Amino acid sequence: MLNGMETAKLAWSRLPNSEDGEVDEVGVSKKIDGSSVESLDYEVIENHAYREEQAQRGKLYVGYYVVVKWFFALLIGIGTGLAAVFINISVENFAGWKYSLTFAIIQKSYIAGFVVYIFGSIGSVGGGLALGKEGPLVHTGACIASLLGQGGSTKYHLSSRWLQFFNSDRDRRDLVTCGCAAGVAAAFRAPVGGVLFALEEVTSWWRSQLMWRVFFTSAIVAVVVRTAMRWCKSGKCGHFGSGGFIIWDISGGQEDYSFEELLPMAVIGVIGGLLGALFNQLTRYITYWRRNYLHKKGNRVKIIEVCLISLITSVISFGLPLFRECTPCPEPDPSSGIKCPRPPGMYGNYVNFFCGKDNEYNDLATIFFNTQDDAIRNLFSAKTIHEYSAQGLLTFLVMFYTLAVVTFGTAVPAGQFVPGIMIGSTYGRLVGMFVVSFYKKLNIEEGTYALLGAASFLGGSMRMTVSLCVIMVEITNNLKLLPLIMLVLLISKAVGDAFNEGLYEEQARLRGIPLLESRPKYEMRKMTAKGVCGNRKVVYLPRVVKVADIVFILKSNNHNGFPVIDHARSGETLVTGLMLRSHLLVLLQSKVDFQHSPLPNDSRGGSLPIRHNFSEFVKPVSSKGISIHDINLTPDDLEMYIDLAPFVNPSPYIVSEDMSITKVYNLFRQLGLRHIFVVPRVSRVIGMITRKDLLIEDNEDSATVELQSTSV
Ligand code: ATP
Ligand code: MG
Repeated sequence: MLNGMETAKLAWSRLPNSEDGEVDEVGVSKKIDGSSVESLDYEVIENHAYREEQAQRGKLYVGYYVVVKWFFALLIGIGTGLAAVFINISVENFAGWKYSLTFAIIQKSYIAGFVVYIFGSIGSVGGGLALGKEGPLVHTGACIASLLGQGGSTKYHLSSRWLQFFNSDRDRRDLVTCGCAAGVAAAFRAPVGGVLFALEEVTSWWRSQLMWRVFFTSAIVAVVVRTAMRWCKSGKCGHFGSGGFIIWDISGGQEDYSFEELLPMAVIGVIGGLLGALFNQLTRYITYWRRNYLHKKGNRVKIIEVCLISLITSVISFGLPLFRECTPCPEPDPSSGIKCPRPPGMYGNYVNFFCGKDNEYNDLATIFFNTQDDAIRNLFSAKTIHEYSAQGLLTFLVMFYTLAVVTFGTAVPAGQFVPGIMIGSTYGRLVGMFVVSFYKKLNIEEGTYALLGAASFLGGSMRMTVSLCVIMVEITNNLKLLPLIMLVLLISKAVGDAFNEGLYEEQARLRGIPLLESRPKYEMRKMTAKGVCGNRKVVYLPRVVKVADIVFILKSNNHNGFPVIDHARSGETLVTGLMLRSHLLVLLQSKVDFQHSPLPNDSRGGSLPIRHNFSEFVKPVSSKGISIHDINLTPDDLEMYIDLAPFVNPSPYIVSEDMSITKVYNLFRQLGLRHIFVVPRVSRVIGMITRKDLLIEDNEDSATVELQSTSV
């Protein structure tokens, strides 16, 4: 009946007899892309097992399930919020201690000050390097979510049966999405930005129910963080005061902009696109080199690398300001509260770094001898016009850009937002200084240009638009600049896209993650599903299969899904569905479903016997826990059979062979698919469904069904 299946049968029929186990016969195993990353299943595998389980569950269970999901979302919010508070307090206090000690010791001896600084930087690793702390926070959020979703960690004996509640990849992925949003919300105190970040960057598949849960988690984070900040403001958290969290309140800056300014602002967008694309390209090369050469030499090399980069960063940030000449302090302005030079050991502007006179400051030290948060606050600030010289900013830009490229991808958990903002705001401010001198009459603030520069660099490198825009507005607390930020982001993204992919996509590709971009490539229009499959033989399983054959197939390839075929009485071949490798492994391990007879269970008119504990099949199927090599089977076991009928997914997605790959691509993206069957043109149509068939009356039963299958 099916051409494809005939070739498949050929492959299969040779398999069991293949004494030497020639993997070639399986057809595809030689063509596997070498990626060790497997996809997850969004799809609910509606096999017999699943349906049985659903039938046993009442409405109460469904309600309980929903409540637990929301409760976990709450826990993720609280956990990530507290982690953020802890990280911020630690980083600020450590940095505070480092700077105070360095400045105190410098009064006595240069060298001793330098030594303290270096050890402080290496000790605090993340604190001194050109990387941001929001990356680890997103990771923390995702880890908390993942732990909750899988019911703790069996590896560290921290699992609890009570927590092992979620049984599909979909649930777990929903929670991880909440965790990532929580991380961004916590790092930037930007709850809406967190939600949009999850939508734009994290999930490849978004549902409206997920939106609510992510929104809820982000709101919880915002409450936790705000409460902690209020508590810390009263001086209970050491050096940590109102700062620390990535927030630069620049309200009170430039209120409006004039038409003439649009051109320099667009120029900032172009610069952002170019520098961002260059950043992605350079980090790609370096990451490639690291993965394939440097990091292969072991963990010790990774640690040495981090220490070395830390050392270089410290030497540069301590050494470069020494070559700068000091500048006289500006006229004291009591209203701004800024002291010049700043008292030793304090944060703020105007650092007196080995300046000959007491009322002088060093502009490069002002950037380097601050936490990144404070440095950015200074760069964004409107009131400190010309605190930095063009030369100082340019030196810093070149150095920091280089350091950020080199630091990205080391063994330290790192975020790219904050370094991106540092780089962007530096050249933004440079452009701003130029514009100020050009349009003398206009009321222009350099800080506004610094902010636009930051947006442009992030847009040019990460290529996010909506979420970035909202995050920028949330962290600067200035809604008036929204149209400008939008303009700059659009330009920088367009310019960057002309050269390469966004930072995250590039890195995902390097790691072999099969991430589908938002749109298919143009050439795909001309390709068909059949063309892409080529002459590869399909590896499939018969409905009743010998254990030895399953073992052979699983050992001879890495595929995770296998079509299952059956023979009708008429002798016709019927495709019964899709069988997942993970489910096969559960069957082999438990052995409960082994049978002596090679006949189907229901061949004598009976129904499918339920011998297996069905709930095992709806446990997280992505768990990499068992592999075929871990399963012990006796020679007697290998001679047994399994009837796969109750365990196959009877309704996999199927496309016809001449469907264009563009369409297939969109199906994968929109439905979050993992496998799709390609079949010849079908010979019959037995019905037609339109939207109207889906508008089913909302009676009690259908509501339950809907709850069970989608919203939970
Ligand atoms: P994923 O890696 O996304 O989790 P998978 O592991 O099932 O899915 P791979 O084995 O990684 O899929 O796919 C590699 C190649 O093998 C693809 O080109 C795919 O078309 C092919 N392939 C996958 N399953 C089969 C199969 N049962 N028979 C023949 N070819 C297959
Ligand atoms: Mg695979």
